[in-house]
Amino acid sequence: MRIDRNIKEKGHDPYGDARKHAEGSYCPECGAVYQGGRWVWPEKPVVSGTALLCSSCRRIRDDFPAGELSLSGTYLVKHREEIENLIHKLVRDAKERSPLKRLIGIMQESDALRVRLTDDHLARQIGDALYRAYKGDLQLKYSDEERFVRLSWHRDE
Ligand SMILES: [Zn+2]
Repeated sequence: MRIDRNIKEKGHDPYGDARKHAEGSYCPECGAVYQGGRWVWPEKPVVSGTALLCSSCRRIRDDFPAGELSLSGTYLVKHREEIENLIHKLVRDAKERSPLKRLIGIMQESDALRVRLTDDHLARQIGDALYRAYKGDLQLKYSDEERFVRLSWHRDE
C-alpha cells in the first residue's frame, strides 16, 4: 500500500513541488525561499544558503505547465485586451501570495489563445473568474496522475 502510494505521488508531482529541500535554500531566479517545507517569498531578500531553482522557475525554464487554458470564440476576439488584463491581474495577485503561482506565457495559436501556468489551481481559478465575468462555456479536464489541468473557455457573441 505504502509503496503504491509513493509511486503514485512521484508521478503525481513530476516537479517535486512536495519534495523536501534544504531549509533556507533560495531560488537565484525569482528570490523565493524554501521555508517550512515550501517555497515562499522572503520578508527580506535572501542571498545566502543553497541556491536552488524553485519548482516554478524550473517549470518556466522547461516550458512545462501544470495548468493550461485555451480561450476561443468571437467574444474573445472583440474583448481580448480586457480578458488578458483580467488574467494578468489574477496572476499578479496569486504570485504575490505564492512563488509557485506564475504565468509561463500567453500565446496565440490558430484560433485560440493559450494561457500556460505553473500551477493547476491557478488555472482553475482563472477559468472560474472568466466564467463569472463573461459566462460562455467552460470545460475542464483534470489529469490526476500527472497533476495537470486543462480548461477550455469559449464564447461567441
Ligand atoms: Zn524561482
